[in-house]
Amino acid sequence: MKNALSLIACFIFCIPAFAQKNTPTPTADWRTPAEISDYLTTPRYDETMAYVRRVAAAAPKQVKIETFGKTGEDRDLYVVAVSKDGVFDPTALHQANRPIVLIQNAIHAGEMDGKDSCLALLRDMVITKSKAALLDHAVVLIIPIYNADGHERYGPYNRINQNGPEQMGWRTQAQNLNLNRDYLKADAPETRAFLKLWNRWLPDFFVDDHVTDGADYQYDVTYALDTGPDVDPALAAWQRDVLAPYLDQSVTAAGHKIGPYISFIDEADPSKGLSATQDMPRFSTGYMILQNRPGMLVELHMLKDYKTRVTGNYEILRGLLEVINRDAGKLVAMNRAADAATIAAGKQFVPGAAFPLQLTPSGTEPFHFHGYKYTRSLSEISGAIRIEYSHEPWEQDVPRQSGLKPALTIAPPRAYIIPAQWTQVINVLEAHGLRLERTTAPWSAEVEAYRCTPAWQPRPFEGRIPVTASAESGAREKSMCEPVQEKLSFPAGSAVIPLDQRAAKVAIHFLEPDGPDSAVSWGFFNSIFEQKEYAEGYVLEKLAREMIAKDPKLKQEFEAKIASDPRFAASPDARLNFFYQHSPWWDQYKDRYPVGRLKSLEGVPLETTNGK
Ligand SMILES: [Zn+2]
Repeated sequence: MKNALSLIACFIFCIPAFAQKNTPTPTADWRTPAEISDYLTTPRYDETMAYVRRVAAAAPKQVKIETFGKTGEDRDLYVVAVSKDGVFDPTALHQANRPIVLIQNAIHAGEMDGKDSCLALLRDMVITKSKAALLDHAVVLIIPIYNADGHERYGPYNRINQNGPEQMGWRTQAQNLNLNRDYLKADAPETRAFLKLWNRWLPDFFVDDHVTDGADYQYDVTYALDTGPDVDPALAAWQRDVLAPYLDQSVTAAGHKIGPYISFIDEADPSKGLSATQDMPRFSTGYMILQNRPGMLVELHMLKDYKTRVTGNYEILRGLLEVINRDAGKLVAMNRAADAATIAAGKQFVPGAAFPLQLTPSGTEPFHFHGYKYTRSLSEISGAIRIEYSHEPWEQDVPRQSGLKPALTIAPPRAYIIPAQWTQVINVLEAHGLRLERTTAPWSAEVEAYRCTPAWQPRPFEGRIPVTASAESGAREKSMCEPVQEKLSFPAGSAVIPLDQRAAKVAIHFLEPDGPDSAVSWGFFNSIFEQKEYAEGYVLEKLAREMIAKDPKLKQEFEAKIASDPRFAASPDARLNFFYQHSPWWDQYKDRYPVGRLKSLEGVPLETTNGK
């Protein structure tokens, strides 16, 4: 049957093909896999890389494929470097003031729009050359599939909210970690690989491509840029005043409806307006703030069809690269100045310096929102208010939280010192590429430290038991740690992290316990909050009576606590423990954060400083 069909096919097609032998080869078919399927499907990992390799083979000078690590399931992680003249050496590119743009796709591997748009963009930069100008000054790095293991957990039921493609990957990687919560704690092998890639290239601009969850509205392309008080002011101004208006105008001109990344204050009532929150360092773009680099979150709207989304993603990347090529020298200079400012600020301890650790919304402004008409009714299914969207356009001014202001600031030290035994914490900082020095001898000194009273959330989050609140205030957006001056001991080999380095903000956020993604917050130090020696009740009964007899002030304090704190009054253990805590037997190390804040490096036994 097969042979018979082939003969018929040859009878019809072979003769004309033979007759055309001497005519020029027809233009090869460079449609991407998604385009060939008319955007019904997205290519698997192998098919994606086959297309990339085909482009690289046809444009070997402009395209270089590198691996940058392995996933948990041992897949290669790829980055595709695209350069007009074959210069791929990061040092040479930095010296030539050519901006390096890193575009990351499929961190959430059910959200494939960026990958398929980047395949088209790659082709148009180096094969059709319709977008060759996007390489005039910039060098583009494309991660086609960051979460490669999640990408191959392929199926039609991975994104319940999303309108196509037919099948897609899964949100998390093979250990069920969400890579877009892992940038600072760096638990996943993919994150470790990313950090190596980041430090090798040190890009000038970062893009993370996603697809939304959340409400229904008219915009198909949405995006977010960080311009808050934790961002270098020149970079914030350029993103807000130059980049954003250009993207809005240029993506609109390309026939798409672009808007800001939409997050409602009340998901069940869009008229209450849009919220703004701190882009924390656990997120890709939040991490870029610590690296002094602008980053753009791209979120295509989940309910738009796949073709609209992929082409919308293409247009915002095209617009971005147009601005970056136009402002190439300026962008590189701003990044360098931001690094220089960080290094200068880290050269000495400045009392009263206000490094913003936690941010909170600062006021609202009206925003003209392009949504869809909706109705709200009581649901007999959920028993709560149900929102139902029509596709009838609805426009209205709604309040929008317009900016952020610091909620908690700290004065960074000159350096941090981490006792040698906290190897996991030191290891994370090394993975971020921070410069560490090791002490050459045991060292004890009065240093600034913290005593903390955290509370934990009841369920694991991202494989950890994180801190959610201060045990005392019950709120997270406050300090759960009190600064103290204490004599701490540091064995030889303890890690000293001076802050006069370009990525100092990474160290500050990881080591200041009140940082939203600090090592304390993520549970790296959970063991310091555990009581490890216990007193028998009858022993404490006797001790308490002796202490009360000797110390009338302590008696008063005990009675006042019983009067003012009903939970304490009702807990026999807490009442007995009160005396244990006030006795010399109590563990003085408990609740004491063991990382020291050094105001200078004087006296610290380091090879480079010679103890000066
Ligand atoms: Zn996502």
